[in-house]
Amino acid sequence: MLDLLIKNGKVVDGTGKNKPQDLDVGVKNGEISELGNLKGARAKKVIDANGLLVSPGFIDAQNHSDAYWTLFDYPGQESMISQGITTIALGNCGASLAPLPSLESFKSIQKWHSPEGENINWTYFEEYLAELSKLKLGVNILSLAGHSTIRRGLLGDVVRKISDNELEVLERVLISAMKAGAFGLSYGLVYAHEYDSSTDEVVRLAKIATKFNRPISIHLRNEAKGILDSISEVINISGKARARTKISHLKIRDAKNWGLFEQVLKSLELAYRQGVDVRYDVYPYTTSWSILYTYLPKWVYQGGKVELNKKLQEPFQKNKIIEALREETQDFSKIIIATATSAPHLIGKSLVQIAGSQGVTVEEALVNVLESTESEVVVFDENIDKNHLEEFLKHPLGMISTNGAGFSVRNLFTKNLVHPRCFGAMPRFLSMSLKNKWLTPEKAVYKITGMPAEYLGLKDRGFLKKGKKADITVFDPKNIQDLATVDNPYQPSLGIEEVILNGEMAFENGVATAEKSGKVLKARS
Ligand SMILES: [Zn+2]
Repeated sequence: MLDLLIKNGKVVDGTGKNKPQDLDVGVKNGEISELGNLKGARAKKVIDANGLLVSPGFIDAQNHSDAYWTLFDYPGQESMISQGITTIALGNCGASLAPLPSLESFKSIQKWHSPEGENINWTYFEEYLAELSKLKLGVNILSLAGHSTIRRGLLGDVVRKISDNELEVLERVLISAMKAGAFGLSYGLVYAHEYDSSTDEVVRLAKIATKFNRPISIHLRNEAKGILDSISEVINISGKARARTKISHLKIRDAKNWGLFEQVLKSLELAYRQGVDVRYDVYPYTTSWSILYTYLPKWVYQGGKVELNKKLQEPFQKNKIIEALREETQDFSKIIIATATSAPHLIGKSLVQIAGSQGVTVEEALVNVLESTESEVVVFDENIDKNHLEEFLKHPLGMISTNGAGFSVRNLFTKNLVHPRCFGAMPRFLSMSLKNKWLTPEKAVYKITGMPAEYLGLKDRGFLKKGKKADITVFDPKNIQDLATVDNPYQPSLGIEEVILNGEMAFENGVATAEKSGKVLKARS
């Protein structure tokens, strides 16, 4: 007797190669045990998937539930499972919650969430994973090790080149995290504590990932006018370290730089053809969700956050920053405050509105907001071209991610706005690509299942085949639709009918079940 039978559906297997097939799916002991015509098979539970697609559970290779701390606040991760996501990869953009060589390490997440008052009782990566496995998880989780987390833990809150001895220690810490099951290594090269790391340092660490057959993930040093140099840097790193590489949340910021689009794609295609294993992930929105201080010129925040806040409070330095922002002529007109815990009255307001009410220029308003919040502000910015987004979504080198965090769908006691991708990224991608016929169902599903699984080195998930773990998403290709918006983000999507996680029902009739069968995954070489 099967535990679960999904019958009459069309199976999209996650390989990207096979057309949807009329197959019934049998699940037993958490695994896919039968695939074929299962007429007459007996099961404890039967799902009729007539008219629906039966896909591997979606895999989000670029997720921040750890850095936003929502993994602990909402371990059920309903905004993820309700999108059909069954596995999320944490520890991205240089920031992971382990290993923590010193308490200073932990501050690598403070861009997204204030670490003050949070309880941490782990140091090593294995201790962290053990702690996570006590949570009632609504999705499977895995984590990369963050470059910034380790580097900052060793060097403290200073920004400088690393010495040879220190780099050797960093390597040893990274090796022990890999041995404990870290799925790879992430970099956030734009951020203050990594900006001074040389390509050489980055390559040496990437080689460790390669040695363990684990991938690297890179948040570019520059996503605006310097994007071509940043992409060349990634290709260089990936080539030299022979690393399986993903550029995080690829986009070209600011209309002034959109002309670089063709060159960005061409350089990636050329590198890939020449044997460099470099791919990217992308989220299906034209609005980004960014840390406000990264809009400042690099010299302003190069000394770390304490230095930055000091500068903002000195009138001479503050004027110098405003002057520099004026000269850079970035477009700040679309920026809206999303998160400002210490200044909730600013949430939802645009920088233009704030400038108006303060009687100052937009550049001055930006600096004032940073000053009054000690630089802890996250913003929305509509700065990505619609047509480029479409090309990035369709391109064979692109996988789809949320780059978001998991939330509860109710009982949210916050005024903060979150990016709609936290609730709707995968349904939005499926809706766009299937309804507009940009992609066949098999190609679209590959980008959210098999492709991230191959990149992450997940061997038993991402494909709907006999013997694989039973993570399965049943969705309605005609009615799939995201509902979350920038103004009203806390809304689950339509069209995700059933989600099975490790063989258990995790989402049905539009709600997450009480069964929390998510697992903490460990990488093995
Ligand atoms: Zn990032």
